[in-house]
This record gives sequence, structure tokens and C-alpha cells, in this order.
Amino acid sequence: MAEHNIPENLPTHLQHFINGEFVDSLNGATFDVQEPVSNENYATVASAQPEDVDRAVASAKDAFKNGPWSTMLPRERSRVLHKIADIVESRDEELALLESYDSGLPITQAKGQARRAAENFRFFADLIVSQEDNAFKVPGRQINYVNRKPIGVAGLITPWNVPFMQESWKLAPAIATGNTVVMKPASYTPLSAVLWPEIFREAGLPDGVFNLIFGSGSVAGDYLVKHPDVPIISFTGDSSTGATISTAAAPQFKSLSLELGGKSPAVVFADADLEAALDATVFGVFSLNGERCTAGSRVLVQREIYDDFVAAFAERAKNIRVGLPSDPATEVGSLVHPNHFDKVMSYIEIGKTEGRLLAGGGRAEGFPTGNYVAPTVFADVKPDARIFQEEIFGPVVAITPFDTDEEALQLANDTKYGLAAYVWTSNLKRAHNFAHAIDSGMVWLNSNNVRDLRTPFGGVKASGLGREGGYRSVDFYTTQQSIQITLNEAHSPRFGADDAAKIDA
Ligand code: NDP
Repeated sequence: MAEHNIPENLPTHLQHFINGEFVDSLNGATFDVQEPVSNENYATVASAQPEDVDRAVASAKDAFKNGPWSTMLPRERSRVLHKIADIVESRDEELALLESYDSGLPITQAKGQARRAAENFRFFADLIVSQEDNAFKVPGRQINYVNRKPIGVAGLITPWNVPFMQESWKLAPAIATGNTVVMKPASYTPLSAVLWPEIFREAGLPDGVFNLIFGSGSVAGDYLVKHPDVPIISFTGDSSTGATISTAAAPQFKSLSLELGGKSPAVVFADADLEAALDATVFGVFSLNGERCTAGSRVLVQREIYDDFVAAFAERAKNIRVGLPSDPATEVGSLVHPNHFDKVMSYIEIGKTEGRLLAGGGRAEGFPTGNYVAPTVFADVKPDARIFQEEIFGPVVAITPFDTDEEALQLANDTKYGLAAYVWTSNLKRAHNFAHAIDSGMVWLNSNNVRDLRTPFGGVKASGLGREGGYRSVDFYTTQQSIQITLNEAHSPRFGADDAAKIDA
């Protein structure tokens, strides 16, 4: 087996970054962070208390009001964003190593996420210089136009599954549009976030535009969400946390974007290219260790191909290379944290009473320690099963047969979630009609999960609120003020006008 690769110069203490400086919490509070191969602590992390969040928000507010960032020409901001993308690209090896070490993601997949993070900055760098807004003319009478403005301090709260990429996804549009930010990464995976301050500094982002706080969701996250000087909250995480945040933000009518969980169906019809469908459905649930919001974690297969497809699926799952996250041959690494490992293992035990176990079913063989789960396949899972309904967020799949299109649709829509869906068929009409009828924010037809950055990302039902991606992110992070100008006389009804009230010319 390959050696566990520990990144060089691994920091042992991580600090907040506020107003251009690395700082500890005012009261010195910290928490410990573990890496998922040994589950040993490798660093202490500053733990933000309300007074630290106050400091970070004050810094962002000051930078928004008084700094150059929010009033800079889009072209100037764009240059900084392109530089950020260049630096992220040039450091992708180092970044992937840190990410993989901290989260347990296989190194090759972590590299892909690093490249995607760079792409997010490049994309919004280009978008803000080509941004256009509406203008409407009523000939001879009125001109109306939209004045788009940044909003202020954005609170960005991110999950642990692909941390750096998730952070880039929010950071790039938030700062591209001229806002300033306070970001709180997930406590399981703080490591890669410490690269942002260096990257931003080198790229020329003014101090105070980016502020980073570490700390628990229930203290630092909650305080940030309720902070009166933070009008925008973008959150990615669990649906129940999304509901809590939504309630906390409601009294102040904040702009909210919630990207939440999923239990996405992958529907395989008998007329599909079955080899391609097999590759994609196996990858769709086991990539990123199954810790993927858009994972196709319910595979629905048409009856006439069911037995063969399920057998082939289970065979693939058994052959998946589970291994050290840092080993380039690894396909499934170690889950992020022992608590999450326990959660996934408990679903596997539930699954044994709800489906036919065909692969995996527990700790991966040969890995007595660490959070390694064998890729697990349950077949014949009924729609009322918990493993069919609930998000497991690990390498576990529920496979269910169907006979007709109607039954497939009913099964596909039969959960509280509605994030993604995947449909495999060679019938063009069926593909589109089926896609249109699915309750999900995104559908991939005969395709693995590849998303053009211009398209909207988000879910329906318990999978979220709002859309980010492309110009929709720009809409979320800006306010659109409409300006009306009269071109001729202002024709107002003359309330209260009589001879005595005339204005002397
Ligand atoms: P959580 O909801 O537990 O946490 C996400 C973030 O929110 C963390 O930074 C967490 O802090 C913070 N947080 C927790 N409680 C609060 C609170 N009351 N107020 C403010 N912030 C809070 O999700 P996970 O980190 O466990 O991430 C996994 C989940 O994310 C899965 O359900 C997955 O489906 C979803 N996800 C959705 C995606 C999408 O785009 N739709 C993409 C990726 C993941 P702390 O870490 O300190 O607890």
C-alpha cells in the first residue's frame, strides 16, 4: 500500500484572517481538527465567538463603505480575479494535497476540484466585464434604466465535502460584483481555506474585502446569519441547517441562497447505452467518496435489464479501489470524520433490513482504522425504505426496479429532495418529457454530472432556495435599482393648486 502522504509545512495552528491580518479569537478559544486517515488531531483552530464575528463584519463593512473595491471599475476587479485564478491554478498540486489530507478525498479528484475553483474566478472575471443591464425608452417621454449595485457584506457559510471549491463558488461572484465578505468554512475541513489570504494578497485584493473566521456553526455561523450588518447569506449544507438559517434570517428579510441536500435519482431505461449508463451511475454515487450533494444515490432500473444491470453494478462496486486519499490509484478514500463514518455505517445497518446487500456492507477490508467504508450496493429497495428516502452522503447506493415511465417518474419524485436527476435513454422524446416532469433543479440526460458554469445551480423542495451560477449569481449578489427620468414636462395632477398657491416665476 502507498505511504500516507503528509503535506510539507503543514500548519499546526490556524487563525482567522480579519482586515488583512491573521488573528486568534479575542478570548483565545480554539478547537481541534483531525485528519481522516488516522483520526488524530493535527492542528488547533481559532474558534470565533460573537466578538470575533463582530470584528470580521466591521472590517468587511468598513472595506465596503470606504475601500476602493466596491467602486472600482469592473475591469480592474476583473484583473484581480484573473490573477486569483492564475495563482490557484499554479498551486493546484499543493492545494489538492491539503484538501485531500484534510477531507479524505482521493487526490486525483481533489485536483479536479482545485482546477474548478480557478475556473470559478476566471468565469466571473469575464462575466462582470461583459455584464449588461436593461434600459427602456418611451420615446420623447421617459428613459428608464437599471442601476446594478453591490449590496454590502456577504456572509458565506460552506460545507466540508469539497471545501475549497465550494468556497470559490461563493467567493468569486460575491467579490466580483463588488461586495465584501465574511466566510465561515466547515469545522471538519478548515485547512485549505488558509490559502485564500495568501492568494488574495498576492493578487492585490484590498485588505478587509475578504475576512475569514473559523468556528462552530451554532455559535459563529448563527451569529453571522443574525448579524444586522450582513444583508446577504449564501449557505451550502444540510437541509435541516438550511431551515434553521432561513428562520434566523427571516426577521431581517435578508437575501438568502440555500444550496442543500439531495437524494437524486439516476433513471436507466432499457433502451439506454447501458455501458455508458453503468460508468456514469457507478461514478455518480461513489465519486468524491459519495459525499456529494448531487450524487445519484438512488438508481432506478427498468425491469427487463434490471438483473444484468444490478449484477454489473455490484461487480464494479466490489472492484472499486478504496485506499489512502493521497494515493493516485485510489477511487474511494476515507470519509471526512468519525462522526460521519458512524452515520454512514448506521445507514448501512438499516439498509441490511431494507434491501438485498450485493457489495460492501461495512468497513472496507484491509482498513482496520480510519473512516474507510466499502462501496455498498443495496438492490430491491422499496420506496418507503429509509435508505431510499434519506440522504446518506457516503458510498452507498439504493437500486430499485420499475416497469413503466409513469412508475419511474413516481419513484424519481418520491422524496422530499429535488436537487439533481440523471436519465439514461436513447429515446429523445422520452428523455425530454421525463426531464420536464421531474421535480429537480437540474437534470442530466445521458450524461455524467458536468455543468457549464453559465447554467443555474440549485434545487427545489428540501434541496434549496434560489439559484446560483452564471448571471444568476450576479443577480443574487447585487441589487437592481430602477431609475426613471422624464424627458418632457412632468405631467402631475395639480393637487392643492389654486390661484393663491401659484409659484411666482
Ligand atoms: P451542515 O449543514 O452541518 O454545515 C454546513 C455549514 O453550516 C458548516 O460551516 C457548519 O458549521 C455551518 N452551520 C451549522 N449550523 C449552523 C447554524 N445554525 N447557523 C449557521 N451555520 C451553521 O452541513 P455539512 O457540513 O454536514 O455538509 C453536508 C451537507 O451539505 C449535506 O447534506 C449535503 O447534501 C449538503 N451539500 C449541499 C450542496 C448543494 O450545493 N446543494 C453541496 C454540498 C453539500 P460547522 O462545520 O461548524 O458545523
